[in-house]
Formats: sequence, structure tokens, C-alpha cells
Amino acid sequence: MKIIVIGAGVVGVTCAYELLRDGHEVEIVEREPAVAQAASYANAGLIAPSHSFAWASPKVPGILLKSFYRNDQAFRIRPTLDPDFWRWTLKFFRQCTAGRARTNTLRKLRLAAYSQARLHLLIDEVKPVFDHIRDGIIFYYRSEQSLKAGIANMRMIGDAGREFDVVDTARIVEIDPVFEPVRDKIAGGIFGHDEESGNSNLFTRELARACEAKGAVFHFNTNVERLIASGKKIEGIATGAGTMNADAYVLSAGVWSPHLTKPVGVRLPIYPVKGYSMTAPIGPDHAPPRLSAVDEDRLLAYCRMGDTIRFTSTAQFSGYDLGHRPSDFANILNVAHEIIPRAADYERADMRACLRPMTPEGTPVFGRGGFENLYFNTGHGHMGWTMAFGAARIAADIVAGRTPDIPLDGMTLARN
Ligand SMILES: Cc1cc2nc3c(=O)[nH]c(=O)nc-3n(C[C@H](O)[C@H](O)[C@H](O)COP(=O)(O)OP(=O)(O)OC[C@H]3O[C@@H](n4cnc5c(N)ncnc54)[C@H](O)[C@@H]3O)c2cc1C
Repeated sequence: MKIIVIGAGVVGVTCAYELLRDGHEVEIVEREPAVAQAASYANAGLIAPSHSFAWASPKVPGILLKSFYRNDQAFRIRPTLDPDFWRWTLKFFRQCTAGRARTNTLRKLRLAAYSQARLHLLIDEVKPVFDHIRDGIIFYYRSEQSLKAGIANMRMIGDAGREFDVVDTARIVEIDPVFEPVRDKIAGGIFGHDEESGNSNLFTRELARACEAKGAVFHFNTNVERLIASGKKIEGIATGAGTMNADAYVLSAGVWSPHLTKPVGVRLPIYPVKGYSMTAPIGPDHAPPRLSAVDEDRLLAYCRMGDTIRFTSTAQFSGYDLGHRPSDFANILNVAHEIIPRAADYERADMRACLRPMTPEGTPVFGRGGFENLYFNTGHGHMGWTMAFGAARIAADIVAGRTPDIPLDGMTLARN
């Protein structure tokens, strides 16, 4: 079958790879000049099933309301009249019960763990070089109180079979000596010894080369303007370079996926949630961390990526705007100077903003909706790098008419 994948982020390219493995003819259409230029460019790099907690939880509405009058909240709303935002937010608030948070977290965890196993198969097959670190991730807490709450929270993840260690400060320092000078600032933490990290932009570039070796064709600088529908089928896509046709289409256009489906009558429950990303170079005189970590009190992640270190933080609802100001990086710079001041050259850091394709539940959208030959693999939110490898296999299985390896409850257009 000839298949067009729309979007060459980590999700679209891994999906293209799995479709090629199944013997399909695959073309990938991407409006940027290269792969992984949007969310897949500057994420935190964590491959962390243990961090599958649903964002919609009982305490989040309060935090969001506070963000109207305080600028120091990790979740922030910039008020807007956009009806899509309010429609999405109402659905998000409906997920903010303890029961829904649990269901959504466990579904995300199942997909993330499956995806991690698929990643290892891909690594064996393609041998990509992507600043991969397989030695675990440290989730550290600043106070006894937040540590206690964090450990209680992790019980759900542990009960579902994910292994981790609760660690005191001495053990954290042993795992990563970068914490020695600031041990008095850390109350303890959780060590996810099976977690990993890596550079998703590098990985996607490597996998794109493997796709090309299997015969895939990439159309860069090619914007998909609209889907051409006829009855129950998509007949083609209208692009800046003319009409393109295939037997089937997989939509992996990140936060922009709903823009393509809305005109043909399909509402995808995806809205952009902006995050800030800072990448600083590590020089010969720096003392970088050995592993990636999450500051659970300041809601910030950092990741060692080759000779750089990447920090990300903040979840801001401000539409599709990709702008950023120096003040948006205040939390990141504060933590960097406070916890790992000698890790990198923060004066020469590269700053970016990028958009997470979030669904209210935090689970992606697979399957079809309305059209026989239009498949979704989109909406992976804050965990698309972790979930991409499993998601790719699931999408390819659905296209082939096979039952995916894991249940997809709550991961189709019929959200339940
Ligand atoms: C600050 C931040 C930190 C994150 N940290 C992590 C992390 O540590 N771990 C983790 O697992 N995940 C993380 N994520 C989430 C992860 O980065 C995303 O879920 C993932 O990159 C989404 O991939 P994607 O391919 O769906 O979207 P994208 O990477 O956004 O790719 C979509 C592509 O579609 C293209 N496109 C869109 N519309 C069209 C069109 N009409 N025509 C042609 N092309 C089009 C775009 O140009 C883009 O290249 C983070 C995200 C952010 C923002």
C-alpha cells in the first residue's frame, strides 16, 4: 500500500519506519526543511515511563486559576477568547478527578513501558547515535513534605509493576556526584533505574536516514494545506507543491493536527501547551551531571545531551504562539545556578519555546475517525519522545488491520 505520513517529528518518522518494515511504500510530507524541528527538537530528552502521571489531577485547576494573578506557577494560562481552548479546557477539567487521573496515568504508563521495549528493538536494528544514557533518571525533592507526597504518588506506578528506588540524599550523591556541593538543598528522591534519556532530534535524523535506506521519500518545505475528502475516503492532500495521493494517510502533525481535520469535520481533542527549553554548552572546565534529573518541586527537567545540557520547564496555555522573553527562563536559570552552577556555560545557552500536543487525558489519539483511510498517530503531549516507538508500532498494526499489542482504551477518538 502507498501511505503518506503528514509530519516529520519523532512521531511521524518512527511511524514511517514501522510502516516501511511492514512493506509499505511510504512518503513523508513536512513543511519544515528537515525532520524534528518542532516539539521533537527541544524536548527534555527523558524516556521516562515512571513519569506517566496525568497532568489533569484534582490539584491542577487551583494552580491554573492562581496563574491568572501569579507568574511563578509551573502551569500558566494566558486568557484567550479562542473557543477551541475553552472546549479543550472544559474537557481537561472533567479529567481532574482522582479516578480519572489514575485511569489516565495507568494508560499512559502502559503505552510508555511498551514504547520503551520497542525502542530497544529499534536500537538493535538501526543502531542510532543519539546521546543515549541508559543509567536511570533521578527525581529529587527539596523538602521532606514534597518527598513524602512524591513517594505516595509513586505507589500507583509501583503497583502497576514499574520498579524504582526511594533514595536518601547520600545515595543521590553516590549516583551522581554533581549533587555533592548542594546536598543540604535536597531531601531525597526517587531513582528510576530503568529510565533513559537521549536527544530526540538526533534520533529522528538517524531514523530518517534508515527510512530513506528502506525507500522512503521525504518531501520537505511542503506544507499540507488541506485534506481532500470524498465520501468516506481521503482522496489526496493539497500541498504547496500540488496534490499528492496515496492509498492511506497517517496524521502526525503534532499540535497542528486539528487544523487539518477540522475542515473535514473531525475534531481532534488536541491543544498546544507551551514549554521553554534551554540548551547550554559544556566546556572542558565544567562539571556536568552524569545523569538526567527532574526537580520535582520546581517542575523542571534537565538532561545531559553529549557536550550540552538541556533544561525544560513550564506548561503554558497561550495558543500557538512560539515567542519567548528572557523572564520565561527565570525558573530554569534559578535552578541551574542553584543546583548545578558549574555544569555548563549558561551565558551561551540557546533558548527556545515549543508546543506539546496535549489531549485532556494525556493519552494520544490512534485509529480512524470518519474516513476509511485516514489514521491518527498524534497528541502524545508531554511524553511523545517516550511514547513514539510504541505508538509507531500501534499505528502500523492498525493500518495493517492487526490487533495492537496493548489495549487502546481511551486512546481513540471515542475517549472513555
Ligand atoms: C518543553 C518540552 C519538553 C518535553 N520533554 C519531553 C520529555 O522529556 N520526554 C518526552 O517523552 N516528551 C517530552 N516532550 C514531548 C515531546 O517532545 C512531544 O510529545 C513530541 O515531540 C511530539 O512529536 P510529534 O512528532 O507528534 O510533534 P512535532 O515534533 O511537533 O512534529 C510535528 C511535525 O508536523 C509538521 N506539520 C504540522 N502541520 C503540518 C502541515 N500542515 N504540513 C506539513 N507538515 C506539518 C510540523 O512542522 C512538525 O515537524 C516535551 C515537549 C516540550 C514542548
